[in-house]
Amino acid sequence: MHLHFLGIDGLAASILFDPDHQGRWPQLEALFRQSQYGICDCEADYQFTGPSWTSIYTGQTADIHGLKDLWGRPRNGSKAFVNVSEPYIWDILNQNGLTTGVATMPITYPARHVQGWMIAGFPSPRLSVTGPVTVPADFLVDHSEAIRRTQPLPGIGYAWHDQMTLAEDIEHLKQTELRKTELVPQWLAAQPVDALFVQYSCLDRVGHELNNYARRSTPFDYRHVYELYDWFDADLLPKLLQVEADYLVIVSDHGWPKWAEEQGSHDQHGVYALRGPDVPAGMRLDARNIDIMPTTLDLLGFTPPPVAGHSVLLRSSELDLIDEHLEGLGYL
Ligand SMILES: [Zn+2]
Repeated sequence: MHLHFLGIDGLAASILFDPDHQGRWPQLEALFRQSQYGICDCEADYQFTGPSWTSIYTGQTADIHGLKDLWGRPRNGSKAFVNVSEPYIWDILNQNGLTTGVATMPITYPARHVQGWMIAGFPSPRLSVTGPVTVPADFLVDHSEAIRRTQPLPGIGYAWHDQMTLAEDIEHLKQTELRKTELVPQWLAAQPVDALFVQYSCLDRVGHELNNYARRSTPFDYRHVYELYDWFDADLLPKLLQVEADYLVIVSDHGWPKWAEEQGSHDQHGVYALRGPDVPAGMRLDARNIDIMPTTLDLLGFTPPPVAGHSVLLRSSELDLIDEHLEGLGYL
């Protein structure tokens, strides 16, 4: 496969790059040592799922693509996935002859026809699939889908949080993610693609779950967030990286504060990483969510269309060339 594009909702720069956590997540650190990586900022006014993921897919700001609602609902003048007119990255890859599998990327309901297949991500009122892949009827596109099937309780969320202890809830969250890791290879076997897009939300969900139990006066312990990063690093990430591809792109739509006394909430600082041939290893270079689409196209050798973001890729060979020139000029 050519490209593995991994969306990690809420993977937070403030937590990951906190010097207090140095050495705690060795798999992630190893990945960054092999990658061009850095903070990936979303827009200050749109630090949430719908607009930020859509900016990642289209390279455009929320004002341009028009999808401004948290959940991508056509409310208060927001566009929805069905009527955003800017091309999505998978459309452009298709136009360039690459097939795409799009698995549970947020705000992609209902699934559109692509050269390959698409399984709509959250929020989805039902499974929505295009292309020749089989999805089990009980598959949860996201842990939040299970919660929203229980009774909504005004002010405090959903009945789920009265029916489950926090420990049971977090276990359910992990199992939902693990199920997806088992199905992805099956989908790829059923219909191989040149580029796979897949998203996991556990690092965002855990913060929202803590908030839900906090509202019910369950003791609020921030360490659960870090423990889910522990699990992500030790158990989930190695499974995700088993998908073989020439190029790997990892990106998150927003961050999460490294510590909150009461309730946490999104912040502006997500993370991205690029890994593959001619990508400088271990080079830190911060970017914006709107840069990820042109950067990914650049990485694959395609000229990005004119969008608000721009490619932040610096190729190792070009950096070497600059050094050679400076050396020749007597600067180095
Ligand atoms: Zn969130």
